[in-house]
Amino acid sequence: MAPMADNVVVSNKKLERMLSMKGGKGEASYANNSQAQAKHARSMLHFLEETLDGVQLDSPEVPFAVVDLGCSSGSNTIYIVDVIIKHMIKRYEALGYEPPEFSAFFSDLPSNDFNTLFQLLPPLANYGVSMEECLAANGHRSYFAAGVPGSFYRRLFPARSIDVFYSAFSLHWLSQVPEIVLDKRSTAYNKGRVFIHGANESTASEYRKRFQTDLAAFLRSRSQEMKRGGSMFLVCLGRTSVDPTDQGGAGLLFGTHFQDAWDDLVQEGLITSEKRDNFNIPVYAPSLQDFKEVVEADGSFAINKLEVFRGGSPLVVNCPDDAAEVGRALANSCRAVSGVLVDAHIGDRLGEELFSLVERRATSHAKELLEKLQFFHIVASLSLA
Ligand code: SAH
Repeated sequence: MAPMADNVVVSNKKLERMLSMKGGKGEASYANNSQAQAKHARSMLHFLEETLDGVQLDSPEVPFAVVDLGCSSGSNTIYIVDVIIKHMIKRYEALGYEPPEFSAFFSDLPSNDFNTLFQLLPPLANYGVSMEECLAANGHRSYFAAGVPGSFYRRLFPARSIDVFYSAFSLHWLSQVPEIVLDKRSTAYNKGRVFIHGANESTASEYRKRFQTDLAAFLRSRSQEMKRGGSMFLVCLGRTSVDPTDQGGAGLLFGTHFQDAWDDLVQEGLITSEKRDNFNIPVYAPSLQDFKEVVEADGSFAINKLEVFRGGSPLVVNCPDDAAEVGRALANSCRAVSGVLVDAHIGDRLGEELFSLVERRATSHAKELLEKLQFFHIVASLSLA
């Protein structure tokens, strides 16, 4: 078959208009492939609760606002928002106050599958919904819900309106792939690779710059939106190495079997090498230092906690001895988070082919994947300085 023409270039600027995790409830959807994130988030609940204990309580007459930034679609965000609000209710009650009314804002980029998310929301208790309906829906929610579309690298809320910001597994997504990484004449051109794991130093350094500029923009916006006395709890993929070309768990996810599968497509003549080189995963797993430098330079936030936390494997399987299940789990996890970008770059049919190659390769390395694939996270708890 003739190599595919290089005419479907997806402009970098459009990343925030098209990035999303795979929507719906199908086999490769994010909703169905985020059990690892759920597990990792649960293992950090004690950190989250510490952050919530630091939030200043307003008068119960003032509504309390909670935001999940990068909520995606699926039940993880609903679970966490519920944890946050229940914890705050307990704090009010412990002081003998009637709790305030709560608003929860589910925020993500506009292409996020908000429909699936909204359908998963349990009914609102006490406001015109009968107890039978709440019980039938297996629970209820004690907050008003709203979806907020937009990039968290910009303003999303009115000044001084939010008590708690939460964001998990989202801030490692860059606002865009650095332009220069796509420029053939530059030393930062990411030749032969689709991610910075194992790439050359100048490519990785451009990614680091982009990450730090993005995080600075994120903090600037949140510092205006947060109420005095509010708090922010952030978790994103991180790495333990100082060297950004060693992206740790993210590196294994996107820099090994996924990379090899792209090389297979080139070798089989299904795409040109240029087409592969023009695809770059817009993810950067920062070191603690990368992250800290930005928070300190911004200066609006006091750091209550900032550390690297071992999250564990991103693969959740029933039978670890079943190589086929492990291979499928890796391919589905990869596809749930990058499938939308892959399909936009090479089309659905080649996207399908790519992920079946990932699955085949991962199946033959199942044991090694289970042993080696570990995610580390940066965990930050910040409040206004
Ligand atoms: N927090 C969820 C989902 C994490 S998936 C969980 O814990 O399971 C990462 C999410 O970040 C995706 O839904 C993606 O669309 C979102 N995201 C990436 N870049 C973003 C940006 N600039 N602004 C808002 N959301 C973004």
